Amino acid sequence: MAVVGAGIGGIATAVRLAVRGHRVTVFEAQESFGGKMHQLELPGGYRFDGGPSLFTLPHLVDELFELAGRNPHDYFRYQRLDPITQYFFADGTRLTAWADEAKFAAEVEAKLRVPAADVLAFLQRSGRAYSATADTFLQKSLHKARTYLSADVLKAVAATPQLGLLETMHQRHQAAFPDDERLVQLFDRFATYNGSDPYQAPATLSMIPHLEHGLGAFYPEGGIYAIAQSLVRLAEELGVEFRYQEPVLEILTAAGQVTGVRTAQDVYDFGLVVSNMDVVPTYRKLLPSQPAPERTLSQPRSSSALIFYWGVAHRFSELGVHNIFFSQDYKQEFEAIFQQKTISPDPTVYVNITSGHTPTDAPAGHENWFVMVNVPHDQGQDWPALINQTRAAVLARVSKALGQDVAPLIRAEHVWDPPGIAARTSSFGGALYGSSSNNMLAAFLRHPNFSRKLEGLYFCGGSVHPGGGIPLCLLSARIVSGLIN
Ligand code: FAD
Repeated sequence: MAVVGAGIGGIATAVRLAVRGHRVTVFEAQESFGGKMHQLELPGGYRFDGGPSLFTLPHLVDELFELAGRNPHDYFRYQRLDPITQYFFADGTRLTAWADEAKFAAEVEAKLRVPAADVLAFLQRSGRAYSATADTFLQKSLHKARTYLSADVLKAVAATPQLGLLETMHQRHQAAFPDDERLVQLFDRFATYNGSDPYQAPATLSMIPHLEHGLGAFYPEGGIYAIAQSLVRLAEELGVEFRYQEPVLEILTAAGQVTGVRTAQDVYDFGLVVSNMDVVPTYRKLLPSQPAPERTLSQPRSSSALIFYWGVAHRFSELGVHNIFFSQDYKQEFEAIFQQKTISPDPTVYVNITSGHTPTDAPAGHENWFVMVNVPHDQGQDWPALINQTRAAVLARVSKALGQDVAPLIRAEHVWDPPGIAARTSSFGGALYGSSSNNMLAAFLRHPNFSRKLEGLYFCGGSVHPGGGIPLCLLSARIVSGLIN
């Protein structure tokens, strides 16, 4: 069988199917694996994880090694992060998100004057919503009747009143913390974990903080890229063949059945094909003569990102692995992204620094800054102008918060924008997470993990069910493998 694309979803699918005894060939357009989860180096000795930086639910990676009868720790190690995030609010307040929920709640009470009990109650509710729904919405195909006949569905239905399907995330957070806009902003930010807008997304997504605060944020030894590296090592040991720089140009079909793939090099026979390519170009480019599910493909896209990779000649003791510099007006920021399709002049800035944990990621006394701003997916905006405007705004924001001019400290720089993300990964418009979750039916409107029209065609990765982000891509691989077997 063939997998089209060596993103994290494709690699995990290849591992699962190889464990089941399939002969798997992975076709990858780029010169190496990982897709959005790649790494880059800049002159002067700086290494960066190119895409994802936050890692949750690490057992989903361990599980792949265990399935293959291996000890995960022989391949891949990680530690729980504590603290998780350093927050810098626009009014100058700083807040540390500690891994321990009670310690975090006490910090919120001390810094924001919101009772710790309210914070704990909110986090517990988030945990309950996650427990009630994750089995149904994340772990199974939503497009097979048998899913709806299981006990998990009854559990999810029973939890419906808690999920708040008719209120938005922002409304939920405002009701929980009516006296502090900063805490509302902090919890609203979790909508961006799947590229959504807290002012539109249903309150169901208020379960996302549980992933980080309840279950933990983790740091893989060597950085996020180590996840892809260790899984490719495992896949190769299991006999998976990776064919790099060999993009699939067409998925071949006959009489409603997949028959193979065509690349520039050759035509290959396969009765099973799993596409890890974004589902929109899979239909538009690889299956041009097949009817496409237009309603599904036309769902609004998730946000994209503008990333500045900076080698910085200084160590900031107040910064950790994850750092957030909030904007003044969050509502305006999301209106800019989702309604005006542009970047706010005052964006929230995320800075990820791994050199504190992996010293080889920067020279001594320096740091590797991955600086990210949420932006709309590419619709032909004037990106060079937006990059210039945003770079200046980012520098002003972080320099003010840190009390030091950061611009003269930048020794090396690289920029990745939505058209660049689209070009490198084939993601439609450079959207990070496929379609957005800005309405309550979004989970059901994502493309299923299989084709309803073509026998032998399956889909994994961030643009299909259950969604984007490392854990959900790993779950898509689990669902696909279950459907095939
Ligand atoms: P992708 O990474 O999309 O890879 C698809 C692969 O298919 C690519 O290698 C591409 O070259 C290949 N391909 C495409 N077309 C073809 C073809 N025709 N033939 C052969 N190969 C082809 N997630 C988190 O969990 N935490 C985060 O902190 C986080 N932050 C992010 C920040 C950024 C800047 C980005 C870009 C993403 C982030 N994400 C994060 C999202 C996460 O990275 C993705 O959801 C996930 O990596 C997507 O994996 P995927 O399996 O969908 O494949």
